[in-house]
Amino acid sequence: MRVKKLKVIVISTPIGFLGSGKGGGVELTIISLIKGLLHLGNEVTLVAPCGSKLPPDCQEVDLIEVEGTDQRSWQKQDYLSQITIPINGVLPKLLKKAIELGKKADAVINMGYDWLPLWLTPYLNEKFFHLISMGGVAKVMKDAVKEVSLFNNSRLAFHTYSQAKDYELSSEPIIVGNGFDLENYNFNEKTGGPLGWAGRIAPEKGLEDAVAVAAELKETLYVWGFIEDHIYAQKVEGSFPKGTISWRGFLATNEFQEQLGECRVLINTPKWNEAFGNVVIESLACGVPVVAYKRGGPGELINNGITGWLAPQDDLKGLMSGVLNVSQIDRSTCRAWVEKRFSYKSFGIRIHNWIHAGINDQNYQEEIKERIQ
Ligand code: UDP
Repeated sequence: MRVKKLKVIVISTPIGFLGSGKGGGVELTIISLIKGLLHLGNEVTLVAPCGSKLPPDCQEVDLIEVEGTDQRSWQKQDYLSQITIPINGVLPKLLKKAIELGKKADAVINMGYDWLPLWLTPYLNEKFFHLISMGGVAKVMKDAVKEVSLFNNSRLAFHTYSQAKDYELSSEPIIVGNGFDLENYNFNEKTGGPLGWAGRIAPEKGLEDAVAVAAELKETLYVWGFIEDHIYAQKVEGSFPKGTISWRGFLATNEFQEQLGECRVLINTPKWNEAFGNVVIESLACGVPVVAYKRGGPGELINNGITGWLAPQDDLKGLMSGVLNVSQIDRSTCRAWVEKRFSYKSFGIRIHNWIHAGINDQNYQEEIKERIQ
């Protein structure tokens, strides 16, 4: 492996501080990316909204906190929505700081899914890279990604092929998957536990379909996650017999994985083109098979019949059939599958190779692909 150590500036999501849960899966991704880069001896500075926290093993990172108002997430807007930046917005401030620091760095990695950093990229001397964290949920975002791709496709990376398909790119997408500190997830061999569901509580996550399966089985569904849309959460709860949902809250990874590991299955019900699906990998890391719709990242991450079952999109019967057949899945295979592909160390290598290649205008795509499959 070519390891030239890099000095990298990482820009956090402009939606909530790191640790708030508001940013969804990208929060965990940022931590894994930083750990992976540090592990290879790179130097990392994180520019993030005020209040952001890093775990104890990231203390060598220079954390620069920036005050300002959150951006509105694109997944809460219409496809044809226009660009808005609130008064005292945190996003321009994060960028101002990153550009300033980027002058003395090899690269800036932007983890925020928003228009401004993409739009600026061709005009900056600092080398900006973007790990795109959502599918093409808005026209202006798709156009902005297309422009960067035309400028230099190696400045972009995606989590999965399914996600990248949403975008018009000038050449093959660079796919980096994702990474997890698997030591934080205990393997639980116990079968026969409850049904589980995890994710932001918001319509695009399709919680109602998992509750429908639980209701039909007359079982309780354990639900973990940040309640982003309270009206939606109440509506789902009110549509099924009382007690079908057991709300477990938004827990720190340690507690979350402990409870998740008790489940016999995780039901994953994306209604949008999920870019990756962190909870799928977290669940498998605990030894819990996943039954999901074949859509977006989960459709690509689950090995049908080996680490869970894939149901046709929005097919409740298919979902139910997967749940009923979950005992055919070997829990230790789920864990082994994840260990081989999604550790933060292997993610760090993929990220390092992507940035290193991009800086030097080389092409390491084949190598990147090989490391995930
Ligand atoms: N999560 C958590 N505690 C919980 C439930 C979920 O920290 O109690 C985190 C989980 O680790 C994952 C994120 O919430 O990283 C959800 O990410 P995912 O990629 O599944 O979906 P997103 O919210 O990004 O659409």
